[in-house]
This record gives sequence, structure tokens and C-alpha cells, in this order.
Amino acid sequence: MLQQARFERISPNLWNETQCTDRILEKTQKSKSTFSFLKMRFIREASSQSDSPETALGTNVTTNLLGYDRDALTGYFAELGEPSFRASQIMKWMHRRRETRFDEMTDLSKPLRRQLNETAEIRGLEAVSESISVDGTIKWLLRLDDGNCVETVFIPERTRGTLCVSSQVGCTLNCTFCATGRMGYNRNLTAAEIIAQVWHACSRLESTVSKRVVTNIVFMGMGEPFYNCDSMIPAIRLLLDDCSYGFGKRKVTVSTAGVIPGIKRLAEECKVSLAVSLHAPNDELRNELVPINRKYPIADLMKACRGYVASDRRSRVTFEYIMLKGINDSIWHARKLVRILQGVRAKVNLIPYNRVEGLSYERTAQDDIDIFRDILLNSRIMTITRKTRGHDVNAACGQLVGKFHDRTKRSARLAVQ
Ligand code: SAH
Repeated sequence: MLQQARFERISPNLWNETQCTDRILEKTQKSKSTFSFLKMRFIREASSQSDSPETALGTNVTTNLLGYDRDALTGYFAELGEPSFRASQIMKWMHRRRETRFDEMTDLSKPLRRQLNETAEIRGLEAVSESISVDGTIKWLLRLDDGNCVETVFIPERTRGTLCVSSQVGCTLNCTFCATGRMGYNRNLTAAEIIAQVWHACSRLESTVSKRVVTNIVFMGMGEPFYNCDSMIPAIRLLLDDCSYGFGKRKVTVSTAGVIPGIKRLAEECKVSLAVSLHAPNDELRNELVPINRKYPIADLMKACRGYVASDRRSRVTFEYIMLKGINDSIWHARKLVRILQGVRAKVNLIPYNRVEGLSYERTAQDDIDIFRDILLNSRIMTITRKTRGHDVNAACGQLVGKFHDRTKRSARLAVQ
């Protein structure tokens, strides 16, 4: 039975002040350890996020293995003098069985288990709240070690279940219609924090009566994934690896506002499905709605998209297009969109605009969305209108805001505009 939306209060002690990364780094670098590889990785992970008392390396150095992909785990075990197949073993324990206790990993030797107990851990994220929409969509607010919170959304459909994950705490992009951007930006998520969202969703869903499963992953939550490639790519590798989640490449989609270097990097390192938040068919309007367009204009973006799908005749780039009444939804815009998509293997998702408090945009009327869609369809562009899901619990596209402190990292925002 579907539950009504509910939201729990967030306890005030979540809002700890951040601590100085440099001090922690200094301490760790001084400590002599045989596990240098593992520690350097952890230092990098820790320094890319704001530190909390819980993650302070100076006190109790343990490595969270949750975000380690096969290569990282192989390197980690090599440093312990262990064979590379340990990576497969531990991946299965962590991601398939969601076992967090090394002592339960019975195919690892006892001395290795002891060593892991001393130096490593497997730690997910704590759910602060779970909100369930009348349409079955579930939104989790997950707390990070530093007190920031991000949102993750599960969207059940008849034949599939899509999990929408966040890649950053907030967003630097400032798209004019999006709630996340209005909240500002705090930091990138680590690979462990990205994969922990999948981990949490899978284990929660498993424990429900309906036993829904996650069949698709979309990086369409908070943030711009291509500004966090260093964490997103290991997380994707874990999603694809048969010893962990085993998703097919087409079942994982990265959505970008159009960060061209990221598109190229994904093509080289880990080619999964690509979605581009287009929202306007000409630079003048797109510069206004999606300011990153000033850096990566439409012609260059289309070229990158053509390149992304060039080598695989079956793949297409998905273009997301929000329908904003009186702004980008006229017949002229539709025809212009047809023109810029010429030569790109594309499909278009028309997204009815979801209201964001404080913004005056309005959603295009359904009849006008249909007219727009038909112009694309008549030009043989595969087009669907996306159903709005989870609106009543603010889980729909563009409504994710999380909870975080220090939203003022404007230098990061300005650097990309
Ligand atoms: N930064 C990436 C990932 C975010 S995906 C990107 O831009 O693609 C979130 C999707 O929801 C994007 O397509 C975004 O443009 C869209 N979106 C943002 N605000 C929205 C709103 N108010 N209504 C509908 N869709 C929105």
C-alpha cells in the first residue's frame, strides 16, 4: 500500500562546522604506514570533501572501501600482498550481499580479515528521511559524514525501476529554472558517497514487501556529474562490474548541462548512455537558461554528441528539453530544434516544467507540448513527454535540494561561467 508523503525533522546536530582539511592531511602524511597506496587514495578522497570529526584521519585511520572500483581494490590488496582475486571476492560481499563486517567474509583468510578490521571499513550513508509519493516514487535524504545531506530518488515503473543519484552537494551551474542551482554549491561527492546511494536504495527496496529492484541508474540528481568525473567514473565502473551491480552500459545514464570535456572523458573511459539537458535550440536563449552554454555553445556541444555516438550505430544521445510556457515552447523553437538535431542520433525527452518556489516560470499547456512533440515526431526524431513523478514530495526533476551548510562557494560557481 502506498504511504502518504512524510518528512522527518532533521536533527540540529547535523549541522556541524567543517574542520580544516590541511591539518588532517598534515597529520596523515606524517604517520608512517605500510599501506601508503590506500592512504594516499583516502587522503585524496578526504581532501575533496569537507571533513567532519567522524572522518578526521588523525584519530582513527580507516579506509572506506565502498567506493573502490576493481582497479583500486586490486591495488589495495596488492599492497597487502594479496592476490588480485580478492577484489572480486570483496566486491561481491560489499555490493551483492551488502555485508559490512569483514568477520562474516568467510572466503577471506582469518589474518586478512583481522588486517581489514584494523585498517578498513565498509560504510554507507545514514538516511535522515524517506518520503514516499502517492505515485510510489521514493525520495531519501541521506546524511554525509560532514553533516551535509543529498537526495536520491527511486522511480518505479511497470517494467523497471530507475534510481536517480546525486553527484554533488548542490550545483555550480545556476540554470535559471532549477531548484538545486538556487541552493548554491558545497562540494563534490566521493565515489563512496555516490555508490552508497545505490547501496542504500537496493537494501531498502529489498526489505519492502513489493521487492522492487533498481534496473536503471541515472545521474540526474543534484549536481553536474561532469564536474565530478574523478568520483563518478569509479562509481560507474562499480555499477557496471559483474561482481558488484552488473548493470548494462545502456542502463546507466549520465546527464550533463553540456560540459564538453566531460563528454569526451566519458567516451574514453567508460561509455555509458549520455543525456544532455538542452532546453533551448539557439545560443541566445540557452545562454540565458543554461549559463554554461556561454562556455560550451550549441554547435560545439552537438559536435561532441555526434562524436559520442559515432562508433555505435545503436546508441543515441537523449536530449532533455523542459517545456517553459512562452519561453522555449513555440512552433519556431520546435523547428529550430529539429534543425540543430540534424545528423545527431538523438531522442528527445520533453519535460513538463516543475514549479520551483520563488520562480515565475510556468509549465507549457499539455496541448502545446503535444504540438511541439508532433513537430519533432514528424521530422522522425524519437520524442517522448516525460511523466512527472514524485511531485508531491518534491522529488521531481529540478526539485532536489538536499540540506547543506556553507552554500557560498561562489568561486567554484564563477569559475565555470
Ligand atoms: N546537471 C546535470 C544533471 C542534473 S539532471 C544536467 O543538467 O543534466 C536534472 C534534470 O532536471 C536536468 O535535465 C534539468 O535541466 C532538469 N530540471 C531542472 N529543473 C527543472 C524543473 N524545475 N522542472 C523540470 N526539470 C528540471
